[in-house]
Amino acid sequence: MKVHEYQAKEILDQYGVAVQRGIVADTVEEAVEAAQTMAADGVTQFVVKAQIHAGGRGKGGGVKFCPSIDDVKPAAEKILGMQLITPQTGAEGQLVRKVLVTAAEDIAHEYYLGVTLDRATGMDVIMASTEGGVEIEEVAEATPEKIVKVHVDPTTGLRSYQAREIAFQLGLEGTAFKEGVKFVMALYKAYRASDATIAEINPLVKTEDGRIIALDAKMDLDDNAMFRHKDLAEMRDEAEEDPLEVEAGKHNLNYIKLDGNVGCMVNGAGLAMGTMDLIKLAGGEPANFLDVGGTASPATTEAGFRIIQSDPNVKAILVNIFGGIVRCDRVAKGVVEAASNMELTVPLIVRLQGTNAEEGMQILKDSGLPIQTAIRLQEAADKVTAALDA
Ligand code: GDP
Ligand code: MN
Repeated sequence: MKVHEYQAKEILDQYGVAVQRGIVADTVEEAVEAAQTMAADGVTQFVVKAQIHAGGRGKGGGVKFCPSIDDVKPAAEKILGMQLITPQTGAEGQLVRKVLVTAAEDIAHEYYLGVTLDRATGMDVIMASTEGGVEIEEVAEATPEKIVKVHVDPTTGLRSYQAREIAFQLGLEGTAFKEGVKFVMALYKAYRASDATIAEINPLVKTEDGRIIALDAKMDLDDNAMFRHKDLAEMRDEAEEDPLEVEAGKHNLNYIKLDGNVGCMVNGAGLAMGTMDLIKLAGGEPANFLDVGGTASPATTEAGFRIIQSDPNVKAILVNIFGGIVRCDRVAKGVVEAASNMELTVPLIVRLQGTNAEEGMQILKDSGLPIQTAIRLQEAADKVTAALDA
């Protein structure tokens, strides 16, 4: 689950991570009020920042520096309601519904600092670089030696000597070194405590007056842990998510939208991925990943069909069910019931294998519905490609 920059900064602040001051606003009036509130505290320069679930906002015109308080209103007017296009949003961009008004900082240096899980070693890895502010992927590509990596042993946690190593490698000295060490320790604590999968500060800055603070913050939280973080779960902003994925979530369907033309509905994540591979090998492109789980009921099957069909790119649907715990005849009844309840607008190919597969196939045939069946997966994939060409 992604959260906005302002929310990530709230979380980090709770764990003692030094973040740039700011107030979030939904309207131009609120943005001006936010600036006035900070001005009363002595702030004279501001930055107005679009809040969307995508990075690279600066490049797309979503981050505006305001040298005086009078510049805040026009900046907020410009950003709120804009369709912000960044390298991460795709060509259609993302509508900006909120802005964060921050106290502008005088930057002496921009660094990169991030934490995530390194699956190869099974340990959290803290990455730091003196090349902050720019895209870290480019740094990793062109000058990998400029990224310092420190792995955290899960049995001991982050040790203070490791945080000192990072601050040292960033070239921090004096007070900035001490603040840097504290920052790294607090960031890791926040990452662990909130069950984040990523906590990324780009840029982490050293200000002209020597403070170390987060100017930007990106956090991804583990969906599967949100049951134990009610406060964090409330930070979810469905308006930023794919509407089909939101709908699928309501039916407990594991759905991820993709760009292809073959919708697929499969039980089990591994089989779903194998099915997507086969669709590709047969010349199609999967339109989604959808794992209906082990207990595909007629209701969830119907919800799955509706979600798949509401994607206009879908030209054919492949249902691939292996009957283990779930019996194929039951699945077939579900498919028939769902397909009779709604209008199927694209060819449907169903492959059933496993427990009661033959009974299941018979049910599909007897239904009189235009459902094509297949026994082998290759056969199913070929029928899908043929349907696409038809
Ligand atoms: P992103 O483009 O979505 O990653 O948004 P950021 O929050 O990282 O902002 C982009 C860039 O704007 C930063 O790398 C900074 O160079 C600049 N910026 C943001 N806030 C400030 C600020 O307070 N002072 C100055 N001087 N620059 C800022
Ligand atoms: Mn950034």
